[in-house]
Amino acid sequence: MNRNKNKNQKFHIIGAGIAGLACAKFIRQKNKSAEIIVYEATPRPGGRCYSYYDKKLQRPLDNGTHVSLGVNKSINRLIDKKKFVYRINFFDTLSAKISRSFKKYKSHLLVSIFNTPGHEVAHSLIKTVFWKLFPFTMFQKKIYYSHNDLSRRLIEPLLGNASRIRYGWKLLKTEDNNGRVTALVFNRGKIDIGPREAVICALDARNYGKVFGGPEFDYADIINIHYRTSVELALPQKKKILGIIKGMAHWIFINKDIVSVTISAAENLQIDKDELAREVWKEICNIRGVEPAFVPPYRVLRHRRTTVKMDWSNNNNRPESAATKFSNLFAAGDWTYKNYPCCMEGAVLSAKRAARLCTK
Ligand SMILES: Cc1cc2nc3c(=O)[nH]c(=O)nc-3n(C[C@H](O)[C@H](O)[C@H](O)COP(=O)(O)OP(=O)(O)OC[C@H]3O[C@@H](n4cnc5c(N)ncnc54)[C@H](O)[C@@H]3O)c2cc1C
Repeated sequence: MNRNKNKNQKFHIIGAGIAGLACAKFIRQKNKSAEIIVYEATPRPGGRCYSYYDKKLQRPLDNGTHVSLGVNKSINRLIDKKKFVYRINFFDTLSAKISRSFKKYKSHLLVSIFNTPGHEVAHSLIKTVFWKLFPFTMFQKKIYYSHNDLSRRLIEPLLGNASRIRYGWKLLKTEDNNGRVTALVFNRGKIDIGPREAVICALDARNYGKVFGGPEFDYADIINIHYRTSVELALPQKKKILGIIKGMAHWIFINKDIVSVTISAAENLQIDKDELAREVWKEICNIRGVEPAFVPPYRVLRHRRTTVKMDWSNNNNRPESAATKFSNLFAAGDWTYKNYPCCMEGAVLSAKRAARLCTK
């Protein structure tokens, strides 16, 4: 008897972000001979997480500094994390002191983890995350972050799990019959979906809504500023990563001659890019205890709609599971993993859940 008789053998994954690519990996682990086709609207993989060569700074950069706490086991298993393990330290701009106290700076961590002001974050989310983080172990305090080579460390190793990746294929709509998706309509043509085929939609919330409808979300922005310095900059106590308390910048990262700054929940920060770069540079100089000198070449990246805002009503609107109203359509993506921050770990957990369901 063929035990695979009722199993899906062909999988169509829409979206080549972390969720889509991780889903391909988890399906491949369960079904070595499956045909897995990934469709991606843009010409590159990675979605919100990728590296590129910045012509102005003449250096490779990550689109945004990506950090993962030690507790995020699912994403940390996928990242080649050799050589980039650090401990979190906070620099208080008022006292000019460095501290490791997570408890003292809990609200700072909340903004960074949820990309939402601490007092607005849904309590269910805080509970989910903080039972994991307290009490801290040495392992949990470690964080991993990209060295402007996130694509190489995280995205490229995942590509090989797909049988084929079709770039420039944007899903416009689906056709259905009898509770099943029967065709995917892309800008490049129509793909029929057979009876033993499954579709995993790993889109960001906004694009998922455009294709399938569903709840509208509020979003939060992140701003990154990358400065290229003439020599590697020294932060207090030679730290490579500092959480900045009561500053404009939330985090400063040193990576050879690139200084990167992250400002989370930045959607209400209405300030001209050049002025922002100058102000933040002044802050960096103050933190280092040096006179503000000339501003080195910089790149300011404002990432609109970085993540769904993690307040109560937005969290409440997230789906309960990967299942959808169609029996062969499954949803993945950071925003689909309710009661968890919209982050790389959430994207991988959502992918695991969708892969489990569609390979049942
Ligand atoms: C600046 C910045 C900093 C961040 N910092 C961190 C951090 O420190 N730690 C952390 O854990 N997370 C961080 N994140 C969040 C993290 O990047 C995301 O949670 C994660 O990448 C989401 O992956 P995803 O696969 O769910 O979605 P996405 O990456 O958005 O992937 C969706 C994919 O679907 C494609 N697509 C969209 N519409 C269509 C369509 N119609 N047809 C076909 N394809 C389509 C998109 O092009 C995209 O490739 C950050 C994000 C940004 C932008």
